[in-house]
Order: sequence, then structure tokens, then C-alpha cells
Amino acid sequence: MQRLDHQFIDNQWVKSQGDRLLPVTNPYTEQQIAEVTAGDPADVDAAVAAASRALPAWRALTGSQRAVYLDGFADALTQRRSALIRLSCTNNGKVLEEAGIDLDDAIACYRYYAQQARQLDARQGQAVTVEMEGVDARCYHDPVGVVGLITPWNFPLVTSAWKLAPALAAGCTAVLKPSEVTPLPEQALAEIALEVGLPAGVFNLVHGDGDGIGAPLSRHPGVDKLSFTGSNRVGEAVMAAASARTAGVSLELGGKSPILVMEDADPELAANWVMAGIYFNAGQICSATSRLLVHEAVAEPLFAALATRIDALMLGDPLAESTDMGPLASARQRKAVEAYLAIAEQEGLVAVRDGRHRELPERGYFLAPTLYRDVPVTSRLWREEIFGPVLCAHTIDSERQAIELANDSEFGLAGTVISGDSARAQRIGRELRAGCIWFNSEQLVLPETGWGGFKRSGIGRELGPWGLASYQQVKHVVGPA
Ligand code: NAD
Repeated sequence: MQRLDHQFIDNQWVKSQGDRLLPVTNPYTEQQIAEVTAGDPADVDAAVAAASRALPAWRALTGSQRAVYLDGFADALTQRRSALIRLSCTNNGKVLEEAGIDLDDAIACYRYYAQQARQLDARQGQAVTVEMEGVDARCYHDPVGVVGLITPWNFPLVTSAWKLAPALAAGCTAVLKPSEVTPLPEQALAEIALEVGLPAGVFNLVHGDGDGIGAPLSRHPGVDKLSFTGSNRVGEAVMAAASARTAGVSLELGGKSPILVMEDADPELAANWVMAGIYFNAGQICSATSRLLVHEAVAEPLFAALATRIDALMLGDPLAESTDMGPLASARQRKAVEAYLAIAEQEGLVAVRDGRHRELPERGYFLAPTLYRDVPVTSRLWREEIFGPVLCAHTIDSERQAIELANDSEFGLAGTVISGDSARAQRIGRELRAGCIWFNSEQLVLPETGWGGFKRSGIGRELGPWGLASYQQVKHVVGPA
């Protein structure tokens, strides 16, 4: 059994100062496949010290020089593609196709920020047009410094790529803390750093849990900025710790995103997009469109189309080509989702498909796809992030009502609009208060478009030029011309 009790600091594997070990489980076999250190604040001290030492030389490189390493990451991930896909399946319960999509997203992200790093050189020192005569004003984009990157278990290689690639492109040095639930896929990033010859200390990877690594990293005075993806509870703690020393934060937090199906939508087509929005990754997606607002004119045919598709979903071994949906990532997550099914029962919610009545594979942390209809907008299932394969539907009778209810949430990460009229779908999308809206499509995540939430879904944007900007500080140098 693999033991991850070493931290990657200064391009060396050094034994963690912590002596607690946590089990890492395959959620399909329920067997322990590895153990990982819970980490120790001393590991954080060492990693931050290495990142600080590496910073001056790394930020002195041109963007084009740093781009070579980022392309190296993309190449190395491509070479490891099939091994990493299998690792994502066994550590996370992802099915093969979805793990492949993750890998491709991560690779595209490193490539994109290699390009951004190259383009950065031309933007450094650009003249600013000023009204005052005889003045020379120039703008530079400096790296923020040493950054702490904390990732969740639902998309390990993707969430780490969205942070690490722009951070390195900007000229920051990094300390990455993967989730202790899924430490195996991101372990490869350290091997890749060595393989591409990244200078020592530029990228450090420290395994551990919140107490051992996450909290000490958040409050460390040597960390200039934190970028966190995960739950609101922990994100708020990270922000509080950063505020004590006025360090910056980017937060990618929870969601309760709506999907609107208007009366002019084709129910069969709509059903495909509704399914992909909630049952992908067994519903463990921050942008899951878990609130279905369907017009009464198409509600019945849509529910019928969804029921057929839910029944056809194959649950089973994530490594089998025929499997559509794997187990949840951990016993703990399954328990959390089951608690919502119990609340649904107490609230008397009506199920079109009730996951508890379906036969499941003999082992594995499975939870069958569930669909409730006519869910009151006051229900906890309607308002809270469930993070599992549970879809709640509510029928609407007008466009105005659909928009109002879609926006009636403390979250604002994403949303989807489905209508037979694309211009109408786009117009409705403009009225939704969320960072990423899709129309007549599945959830397309592109490196060029920004990712991030309104309201309690977070602060800041990842991806696109905004992702790079979040690791930069704008600096102006002004004097006589
Ligand atoms: P989590 O908040 O429990 O853990 C996230 C990370 O924080 C883990 O690495 C964990 O070890 C670490 N952590 C735990 N305690 C900490 C502390 N006190 N200080 C610092 N770090 C600490 O979240 P999770 O269960 O891993 O992921 C699920 C959540 O992530 C969901 O709410 C989901 O919506 C959210 N998420 C959001 C996005 C997005 O882009 N908005 C993407 C993926 C997941």
C-alpha cells in the first residue's frame, strides 16, 4: 500500500513532521489504497520558506521562459493520461469518460496559461495615456508573491490546474495542498515538476488535512495570497485567517445553480442537458444545476424523459466502459447526501425517481440518482447545496417567475437556460445573477472564459485572463518623460 508521508519541498521528498496518517480509500471497493500524512505546521514553514527563496529568480524570468515549463506540465500530463485517468477513477470513483474529460481540461489549462505567459511579456511596461503633459507612465504586472493553493476532492487535477498554471505563469511560487481524500492524482504534479526541471522551491506540494496543513497555510505570514476551492465553511475560515494580515484571497465555493426549461424547449433535448448538469460526477459538482425550474407546459414530458434516462443510467465499477455513474467519493459524502433524503421524507417531497428504491452494486459508496418534483422553494433541499445526485424540480408558469426563482438563492455560481429560441435563452441568461451561464448546451468549461461565483459562491475569477490577473498586482512607474 502506498504511503504518502513525504512532502515535496524544494524539489526534494522530505518526511512530514506529522505522525498522524489518514486512510485513502477506493470508493468503489471500499478498500484502503493508500495512507497520507495529516501534515504538520512545520511542513508548511519549510514549504513556504522554500517558495520564498525561489521567488526572486522565478519572477525575474520572462513570461516566455516560464511558459516553457507550463507546456512541459501539459506534455507530461498528456504522457501520463491513461495512468492518471485510472488513478482518478480508483481514488475518486469517477467513471472513465469523466476522468478523461478532467484530464483534458487540466492539460488545456496548462497550455492556455503557457500562451498567456508568453503574451504577458508584450504587456509589461506599456505606456499609459495620461492627460498631463511631459509625464511618462508605465504599467507592469508583478506577481503577487508566494501563494497558498488549497483544493477539494471532487476535481483534483482540474482545480489544481486552474490555480497552479496561472500562478506559475504570473511569476508566483506556490505551495499546493491537495485534499486528503484524493491526494493520489495531484501527487503526479510533483513528479512532473522534477521531470520538467522546474527550479527548486517554485512548486511545493504538502499533503495533509485542514488542521495539519490547511489552517497553518492560511495563517502563514509568508503567504501573500490564498486561493481556495471548497466549502463555504472552510472558505470563510481561510478568508478570516488571511484578513488578519491583509493577505488576498480567491474563493471558489458552493453553489445551488438553476436550470430553466422554458415552454418552447424540446423536452427530449432539454432532458439530456438536465441530466448532464446534475448526474455528472455523481452530482459532486460545484456548478451542478440542482434546481430545475420547468415551465408547466413541458413539465410532464420532461419528467417522463428524465425518468427514462435515470432508469437507463448504469451504476457500477468506475473502470468499466459501460458504467455511467460511479459511487460518491467517500462514505462521509454519501452519509451527508443521505441526510438530505431523510429530510425529503420528513418534508413529504414527491419523488419521480427515489434513489433509495433502486438496487445498487453490492459494494461501493453508491447513491442512486434521485429526482423530486413540485419541491417547495422553502425546502432545505431546494435551498442548500447537497453535492450528490439529487435533483429538485419546481414548476413555473412565466419567464418572470423563472428568473425570480432562479435568482432567489444565496449562491450564484452558474446556471443554464433551455429554450427553442436561442436569443431568448441568452436574454434570460443575462438576467441571472451568477458567474457562468450556459444556454442550450451542457456545461462547457473553457480555459478562455472565466469561472467564479456571485454572492456566496465566491470571490474572484479563475480561468481566462482574469485567472492570471488574480496572481498579479498592477504596478505603475511614473515620472518625467
Ligand atoms: P472542504 O471545504 O471540506 O475542503 C476543501 C479543502 O480545504 C481540502 O483540501 C481540505 O483539506 C481543506 N481544509 C479543511 N479544513 C481547512 C481549514 N480549516 N483551513 C484550510 N483548509 C482546510 O471541501 P470539499 O468537501 O473538499 O469540497 C466540496 C466543496 O467544494 C463543495 O461545497 C463544493 O461546492 C466546493 N467546490 C467549489 C468549486 C468551485 O469552483 N466553486 C469547485 C469544486 C468544489
